[in-house]
Amino acid sequence: MESLLLKNGLIVTMNRNNEVIERGNLYIEDGKILEIGEKTQKKADIELDCNYQIIFPGFICAHTHLYSALLRGAPMKITPPSDFTQNLQRIWWTMDEALSLEDAYTSTLYAVHELALNGVTAYLDTYSGPNSIEGSLDRISKATQEVGSRGVICFEATERRSPEEGIRGLEENRRFIQQNDPQKTLIHGIYCLHASFTVSDDLIHKTNEYAEQTDSFKTIHTSEGMADLHHNLEKYGKRTVERLFDEEFLGPRTALAHAVHINQHEIDLIAQTNSNIAHNPKSNELNAVGIAQIPEMIQKGINIGVGNDGFIYDAIENMRTAYLMHKLNHLNPSQLPTPLQVTQMITINAAQAIGLKDHIGSIEVGKAADFVIFDCTALPTPIHRENVFGHLVYGSFSRRDIKRVIVNGKTIVKNGIHTSLDATQISQQSKESALKLWERLDLTPRIGKRF
Ligand SMILES: [Zn+2]
Repeated sequence: MESLLLKNGLIVTMNRNNEVIERGNLYIEDGKILEIGEKTQKKADIELDCNYQIIFPGFICAHTHLYSALLRGAPMKITPPSDFTQNLQRIWWTMDEALSLEDAYTSTLYAVHELALNGVTAYLDTYSGPNSIEGSLDRISKATQEVGSRGVICFEATERRSPEEGIRGLEENRRFIQQNDPQKTLIHGIYCLHASFTVSDDLIHKTNEYAEQTDSFKTIHTSEGMADLHHNLEKYGKRTVERLFDEEFLGPRTALAHAVHINQHEIDLIAQTNSNIAHNPKSNELNAVGIAQIPEMIQKGINIGVGNDGFIYDAIENMRTAYLMHKLNHLNPSQLPTPLQVTQMITINAAQAIGLKDHIGSIEVGKAADFVIFDCTALPTPIHRENVFGHLVYGSFSRRDIKRVIVNGKTIVKNGIHTSLDATQISQQSKESALKLWERLDLTPRIGKRF
């Protein structure tokens, strides 16, 4: 692979000291950062002048469902859900049963391409498709590799229809983890359970056992809606996180998605076990499930990454909602998180929340060369090491200002366009899949197809 030198950029490292280098160079070889400094003497095959540009670590989406791209704008023929359980039953569980392996591929291609255009270089996706289990992760992996992004992928094992399907979901993860080499593909397989209200203790134990064998990361939706909490209280006499703690699912290699309906004791258990949280503020707004106690979790030292839960692909918009939501909730404009903390939530903290902290999330020697580079010539005020996080949160630059997105040392997006894929073709493929899916769901558009 050609060596690369990025020169004269404002480098936001997101390292342990949150160091910002106001005018620095980055030398990259074989996809890895080998040198960072103000005066590197190295020569490279490709040298790019990043004057008036800001180099961030590639943004990371800590929790998503790529398949949901195919439901955007679907003419639903249902009574609108009035709570989260109805939302699952009337929309998502109807949809995922109709998904095909082809849908897994086309939705991933569309969504990961869209994430990349937004500066997102890595994501954690949980796929759900009871009638497209075996082979689904291969399709998701293939599409992600075509985009050139880094993916953490898993099948969402659930016993909502039968215990046998729970095992099949788990085995799909195991098969993929055993067959895939992340060194060759940038794709990491992990284990996933849907949510504690759709899985038995037996399936939790089996997942723990498999994950321990390969030191694999695990994730589960946790008290996103009240149904999860009520199920665990009624059946086990425990709150959701208490049950996950008792069944030994928690730990530093575990991410809990949402964690909305949890109490102080559960926050303590998450902190005590160094478990991670994937906070999805825009999805929580959309589904009106409630507001996670993020400021309290930050105070307890819990690691929090921000995800989109399959909703909005713009990492900055998701991060900004995480910044604003808790201030409004507490009627306090000084409430946590700070601009620095929400930037951490889509970079280094998100890297930890998807199990890749040693590889990505910050600009440090030895880490992978994953970057998003913004043009900052049009800013209204000066930018420097003190205010760069404020500029990001307060809207000084956005997707339209992205000059370049680099994954593993390779440019995949340049001036808003993917370097090898045709956006129109990806969109066309996605629309064709969506129309077939909508037909299977009897959701043929009532007003016809305009485009
Ligand atoms: Zn989710």
